[in-house]
Amino acid sequence: MNEAVPVRIAVIGTGRVGLVAGACLADWGHHVSCADRDPERIARLRAGTSAFFEPGLAELVANGVAGGRLRFSASTADAVRDAEMVIICVGTPPAANGGLDLGDVLDASREVARSLTRPATIVLKSTVLVGTAAIVARTLAETNPIGERCDVVSMPEFLREGSAIEDFRSPARLIVGLEGGRGGELIGRVFHRIQAPIHVTGRHEAELIKQLANCFLGVKVSFANSVADACERVGANVAEILRGVGADPRIGSGYLSPGLGFGGSCLPKDIAGFINFADQVGADPRLFVAALGVNERRPVDVRNDLASCLGDLKGRMVAILGLSFKPLTDTIVEAPALALVRQLLAAGAHVRVYDPAATARVREVFSSDIEYAESAQDCVAGADAFVIATEWPEFAELDLSSLRRQMKGDVVVDGRGVFGREQLERAGFRVARPHPAAAAPKLAN
Ligand code: NAD
Repeated sequence: MNEAVPVRIAVIGTGRVGLVAGACLADWGHHVSCADRDPERIARLRAGTSAFFEPGLAELVANGVAGGRLRFSASTADAVRDAEMVIICVGTPPAANGGLDLGDVLDASREVARSLTRPATIVLKSTVLVGTAAIVARTLAETNPIGERCDVVSMPEFLREGSAIEDFRSPARLIVGLEGGRGGELIGRVFHRIQAPIHVTGRHEAELIKQLANCFLGVKVSFANSVADACERVGANVAEILRGVGADPRIGSGYLSPGLGFGGSCLPKDIAGFINFADQVGADPRLFVAALGVNERRPVDVRNDLASCLGDLKGRMVAILGLSFKPLTDTIVEAPALALVRQLLAAGAHVRVYDPAATARVREVFSSDIEYAESAQDCVAGADAFVIATEWPEFAELDLSSLRRQMKGDVVVDGRGVFGREQLERAGFRVARPHPAAAAPKLAN
């Protein structure tokens, strides 16, 4: 790839993907203008604060701004003027029909098209349905004659919240979907620092690779949870079983832990989006429907496990540690912890919660229906049971014996495998798990 010739880049959308992309590209020496249609978001960024928490991002943004390589604008026209590359990173939330809502992508494409003053390479980083890059290309051409001379590249993003910067800089692979090979040269210049293998594909293929990678991860998580559901009933050690299964390189150990299930703004909606696509083209979506169904069931199962230990949940205090859908982020979209809170409230339980970053967002959802603690210890004190719903690193440091002494009850659900079962039992806890059916065989020792 060509060595560092700085490129003028416009990034449209300063969310979790756009801001990380903009800050990393500026850090590599490019000149980056980030636009967002939310003026409040832009005002905050200009004032040096962000609308969300991502480790290391505030510093990277501050460096880019101080170095004069990163700036923010509430106007797409302003950001796109003179840009050689425009990267579209706007949201694609779930649509009412189960697919993805591409409205923001199409709006952004029209705004970009109107703003072009020279041909540019347009990179679609948002997760989209197959065929969207072609629609974007058509929109550009129909809106502005310059748009006809633009290359449109599909280059999906695979970063994970909580490790977004590292993931952007060092992805497992780069997927670059080109039409007739056009746009590849500039992509090489902009992303020359990335050492990962590059898969050059067609645009349709790139769009599907992103959606299907998320589908596979969801299927894997639901596989682990289905295995757990069966194995726990006969007293088998699920963590050991899945470690053994995942040790096969054909399977791999990632995303193979049982727990409360997956959430966030990507996996659930991308799986639903693919189900919708499969339905539309007459393909069989049952595998993915099952993966979502297993996932939705997890918080219900945990409520039932708690109820079978505590007798009746009515009036019981359940403490929940961790609310964000995963550690090191404050995203609570589709977070399993929130589904569990709803289950517990519906069963008449009292709920107290603690999260290192997401409490303010959760307060907007549940207001005074639940209690909010300032620390894990305060959350658990006096509770009848506690649940680890997100594996924040600080929870692994908790002194289990001291927690047990502060609690009224002794029931625990380690919904993320932070502690081993034996460790919890040694500290005096009863580990809630599915009640074996009367006929279920016990494993002989
Ligand atoms: P986000 O909701 O955090 O941010 C989207 C931003 O785009 C918002 O700030 C919004 O105001 C802005 N926006 C919307 N329409 C606009 C327009 N017409 N002009 C300018 N700004 C506009 O979304 P995100 O999490 O950054 O995700 C962006 C895309 O990347 C989605 O398709 C998502 O599925 C995908 N993705 C997300 C992640 C993740 O971990 N969050 C990872 C990989 C891929």
